[in-house]
Amino acid sequence: MVAAQLVERPPAQPAGEDSPWHTAAACRRDEVGLFFAPSKEPTAARLSREERAKQVCARCPVLLDCREHALAQPEPYGVWGGLTAAERRVVLARRRRRDVELCEPVRVPGARGRIAG
Ligand code: SF4
Repeated sequence: MVAAQLVERPPAQPAGEDSPWHTAAACRRDEVGLFFAPSKEPTAARLSREERAKQVCARCPVLLDCREHALAQPEPYGVWGGLTAAERRVVLARRRRRDVELCEPVRVPGARGRIAG
């Protein structure tokens, strides 16, 4: 849980340029339960909770750091960087497709066996 894992960890050093990004997290002061689903949460309640969590993320100064952290791990649960777990899966799938496309050789029409690039 973002908030819980990051929030309950005391900062290793004072906030500043060299501090870990999560020391400036907006969710440090918010209800931890907002970012992670309780068991058997009804869909309507989940959507409402996630929207409220995203509102906290929207005013967070480290949103991009948090998002990239959650994508890199990848974090399987909770709202991180303004994205739900499902939204992060979509981003990761798009990035994988993009990376594959960037690695594919470009075939030149009419030039047998020739590869551009
Ligand atoms: S972007 Fe959201 S989840 Fe990430 S640190 Fe900020 S408030 Fe917390």
